[in-house]
Amino acid sequence: MMMNEPRHFANQLPALRGQWADNVAMARHVSWRAGGMARRAYTPADLDDLAAMLAQLPVDEPMLFAGLGSNLLVRDGGFKGTVIFLHAALNTLRVERLPGVAADQDELIYAEAGVASPKVARFAANLGRDAAFMAGIPGTVGGALAMNAGCYGAETWPFVLQVCTIDRQGRRHVRTPADFEIGYRHVAPRDVDAQGEVFAAAWFRFPAQETSVARATIRTLLEKRVASQPLRWPNAGSVFRNPPGDFAARLIEATGLKGLRVGGAEVSTVHANFIVNADGTATADDIETLITTVQSRVAAATGVQLIREVRIVGDAASSSSSPKA
Ligand SMILES: Cc1cc2nc3c(=O)[nH]c(=O)nc-3n(C[C@H](O)[C@H](O)[C@H](O)COP(=O)(O)OP(=O)(O)OC[C@H]3O[C@@H](n4cnc5c(N)ncnc54)[C@H](O)[C@@H]3O)c2cc1C
Repeated sequence: MMMNEPRHFANQLPALRGQWADNVAMARHVSWRAGGMARRAYTPADLDDLAAMLAQLPVDEPMLFAGLGSNLLVRDGGFKGTVIFLHAALNTLRVERLPGVAADQDELIYAEAGVASPKVARFAANLGRDAAFMAGIPGTVGGALAMNAGCYGAETWPFVLQVCTIDRQGRRHVRTPADFEIGYRHVAPRDVDAQGEVFAAAWFRFPAQETSVARATIRTLLEKRVASQPLRWPNAGSVFRNPPGDFAARLIEATGLKGLRVGGAEVSTVHANFIVNADGTATADDIETLITTVQSRVAAATGVQLIREVRIVGDAASSSSSPKA
């Protein structure tokens, strides 16, 4: 439960305007609806408040930035640090124009990290821009930047002109795509000094498209998703990256693993690259064990080592050690 009352070191940070909570059940904040507790969580009031909070947080406090948790699992032993929730916080979404450029020639969309990606798609369509692929990604802009999320042949970073990042001390930086190594579901800063930075906002440049066409594309894309994905059960989208020239789902299905279960976790019978929390009882350990089982059985059958796309953090249930990414 979110509370205004600061706790622990948090009551040493009096100028903050956001909300602290202790012992937060992360299953309520990730789309798999499974996993452990976070020792504490903070929802900033806005970007300035986040900067102030980071400037004051003890340097050795482990931190986890979370968007909508649609690609995230916290192990059953929990995350012994502070989770920072951006979804309800960094919500600015607006049009910006580059100085000195005619209004309709370079209309950028400025979106803070907590804005939901589908909202960017609809906002762009209303402006006569095509960001339809973002409608199929049920996370935030921050998560899309961190993952280089994409679908139906498009991905996030080719549309990014620049980003605002924030470092561990709360300082903001404007960076361009050239500052990052960007690949398929992979983004890493080139400069080691930038490695602790997270995404606070991005300026996107999407191609022009008639509003009616952009809206129709969004509708078609969502219909395809509903028809092909097991959306009735908690899941985190595709669990594994597609290996070069192939599809993880094809390899998993060819290995005969559709329907394979560990506890409450099941390889979806609808889409083999999805693992669903089939009856709501899966633990994070069930899910992670099923992931490693799928990896070893696919490797044994096909020789292909599947690489996990979903992010798993925190401690195993029996462990009391510090968090691992
Ligand atoms: C039904 C379903 C369908 C999906 N389809 C797709 C798809 O087609 N394509 C696709 O790419 N993904 C897909 N996903 C996965 C997921 O939606 C994307 O990866 C999404 O971009 C994650 O965003 P999020 O805000 O939920 O991030 P989270 O899950 O909250 O976090 C994911 C990772 O990003 C980090 N992170 C979050 N915010 C920030 C930030 N501001 N700065 C730095 N790091 C941050 C987190 O620490 C974590 O490591 C799907 C998921 C589901 C459930």
